[in-house]
Amino acid sequence: MAFTVAIDGPAASGKGTIARAVAARFGFGHLDTGLLYRATGRRMLDGEDPLEAARNLRAEDLQRSDLRGGDVAQAASRVAVDSAVRAALLDFQRAFARRGGGAVLDGRDIGTVICPDADVKLFITASDEVRAARRHAELSAAGEDVTLAAVLADLKQRDTRDAARATAPMKPAADAVLIDTSAMGIEDAVAAAVAEVSRRLETVR
Ligand code: C5P
Repeated sequence: MAFTVAIDGPAASGKGTIARAVAARFGFGHLDTGLLYRATGRRMLDGEDPLEAARNLRAEDLQRSDLRGGDVAQAASRVAVDSAVRAALLDFQRAFARRGGGAVLDGRDIGTVICPDADVKLFITASDEVRAARRHAELSAAGEDVTLAAVLADLKQRDTRDAARATAPMKPAADAVLIDTSAMGIEDAVAAAVAEVSRRLETVR
């Protein structure tokens, strides 16, 4: 049975953690669609044309260990403005969403563009300060030497670019459930998401 969960939201809102936890809880596959844009951005930083990079993306590109840094995040958000790049990445995402056994996709445009008919749509938010603190802790733990102020500025710049672009801007789908994780521990945020998925599964089974 195909069953698709679309999870969107800005960087460091908790959507990736929630997506992984929901997929593990229900035995669904999980696709972090940000990785597609990061891998394309990485190849652009390495000197390749972004559209060629998006068209020729391979599974190994998504497994590179150098996709998490701030420079790659910025490059990802720049290539993501290009509608041809987005179109080149569309079929792979839609095919993943339809796989048997259920799928969770997290990104910016899953509920609006990639899977407008998703069974569950969640939009995860958190305040700028909370998101910056989370991302700063992650990057510091990974050994990146970066200030909290720089992380906050990077997030705000990416959010503005992601929300303002003409093609597939980041925004909640009209039928998405909003979850604000600013004041929530990760367990509570995951529980809220799991409850939404369980409720929907009961109606389709
Ligand atoms: O989610 P993550 O921070 O890894 O995404 C990196 C960038 O990729 C985002 O800032 C956004 O510009 C782009 N992206 C997108 N659409 C998606 C997922 C990511 O435009 N579905």
